[in-house]
Amino acid sequence: MASEAPADTIFGRILRGEIPCDQVYADDLCLAFRDVQPQAPVHVLVIPREPISQLSEAQPEHQLLLGHLLLVAAKVAQQEGLADFRTVINSGAEAGQTVFHLHVHVIGGRPLAWPPG
Ligand code: AMP
Repeated sequence: MASEAPADTIFGRILRGEIPCDQVYADDLCLAFRDVQPQAPVHVLVIPREPISQLSEAQPEHQLLLGHLLLVAAKVAQQEGLADFRTVINSGAEAGQTVFHLHVHVIGGRPLAWPPG
């Protein structure tokens, strides 16, 4: 629920201004900042202010928010000068999720192989 404080993940702490981030975009619904361990020349994370733990926990009421995150991902890619880019949402530990506050990776600036590891 939007009225609750963000969950106490590292991203919650970033949202609350308790630890710094290299911000590239912000609005009422989300924040985007550079990943501390970039996997490509551009690696930005787009996170909702609302602390949804992972995509599999998202509810129908999050439909507009989830669409917004993708539109912001595309806006950030354009801002970063990327014509081509990849978005990734890891949902669950086995899928590679390590921070349990939903986030969209925006990755680009080099050729990206497929399938991912
Ligand atoms: P995931 O593995 O999909 O949960 O992605 C979490 C991402 O958060 C990883 O790529 C980390 O490098 C990144 N990360 C962790 N802590 C921070 C931080 N303080 N600032 C920016 N990125 C972070």
